[in-house]
Amino acid sequence: NKQVILKDYVSGFPKETDLELRTETITLKVPQDSNAILVKNLYLSCDPYMRLRMHKTEDESSVFTSYTPASVLTGFGVAKVLDSGHPDFVEGDLIWGTTGWEEYSIITTPETLFKIQHTDVPLSYYTGILGMPGMTAYAGFYEVCSPKKGEYVFISAASGAVGQLVGQFAKLMGCYVVGTAGSKEKVDLLKNKFGFDEAFNYKEEHDLNAALKRYFPEGIDIYFENVGGKMLDAVLLNMRVRGRISVCGMISQYNLEQPEGVKNLMSIVYKRVHMEGFVVFDYYHLYSKFLDVVLPYIREGKIVYVEDIAEGLESSPSALVGLFSGRNIGKQVVVVARE
Ligand code: NDP
Repeated sequence: NKQVILKDYVSGFPKETDLELRTETITLKVPQDSNAILVKNLYLSCDPYMRLRMHKTEDESSVFTSYTPASVLTGFGVAKVLDSGHPDFVEGDLIWGTTGWEEYSIITTPETLFKIQHTDVPLSYYTGILGMPGMTAYAGFYEVCSPKKGEYVFISAASGAVGQLVGQFAKLMGCYVVGTAGSKEKVDLLKNKFGFDEAFNYKEEHDLNAALKRYFPEGIDIYFENVGGKMLDAVLLNMRVRGRISVCGMISQYNLEQPEGVKNLMSIVYKRVHMEGFVVFDYYHLYSKFLDVVLPYIREGKIVYVEDIAEGLESSPSALVGLFSGRNIGKQVVVVARE
């Protein structure tokens, strides 16, 4: 069983060499009298929160537990059940949820998994648009932002797993949507593939406040926050009265020892801004409603989804680390096996 191990806690930017491949011998059977299931992992999801589990968590408020050095990484994935000691799962079932970064995993808490019922769409979508990031976009936009037709929406890390979907939801709702991303190729995708009204490369703007004023002369109603730091600071100055900020994540802060100061917090008072953080797993009860909304959009071609597919478990360390330099274009997926 080929596996990906976190060698030790990470400080600063993660490197491929922080992870290591090893092989162990296992029996492809669920232990007797256990509720566990044995799965063959097909697709693994590279997610920014994984970095937050790579150091020893000192933030008492964190919802994440740290990985254990020298152990197999865990994360979201799509897998096929090979053997089951659990009454709700049988051989051949397809699932998505937390699994190991390895070829085969024993999952001891199968009740946390989602069974995949719809296979007329690519299975890898259950790591992205139909999995955790898709639910994040859905909950973070519709539930947290209370969007209305015609509102001005800004999205950071807009071409990524979550952002590309938030932008398309906002367009379908009739909003004016601007996204920012870190390369020309991504900016082109935002405008030409995902239908954003405007997009810009934040790395080319020396004055983010001025850039936002250019795209939002009347201000921003909704900011979908994925990056934090300087971008958040500039956005705060450009919010409209009673604007909403959905705080999904702050990837620009994940590799810093000291968080970057945000200075413009008084704007929250001046503009009566509602700023709300959220965690996707509080919204999993909406999953079937979410599928009812998103599956038809996919089937009718009203929503598209771009994935960045890395082949083989060997490619997973570079795929994961690439999230923090913006190497991924769209949802970063690792294919372990196709069936
Ligand atoms: P993406 O697919 O968007 O990948 C990460 C992207 O972030 C990179 O491609 C890069 O794009 C951008 N990025 C990396 N470093 C920086 C930086 N220093 N400054 C600005 N941008 C940077 O990731 P996801 O869509 O999966 O996740 C987006 C956000 O959502 C993250 O903050 C994540 O933690 C959060 N999240 C929160 C959840 C929740 O429950 N609250 C659940 C899931 C995700 P670029 O080239 O544009 O810089």
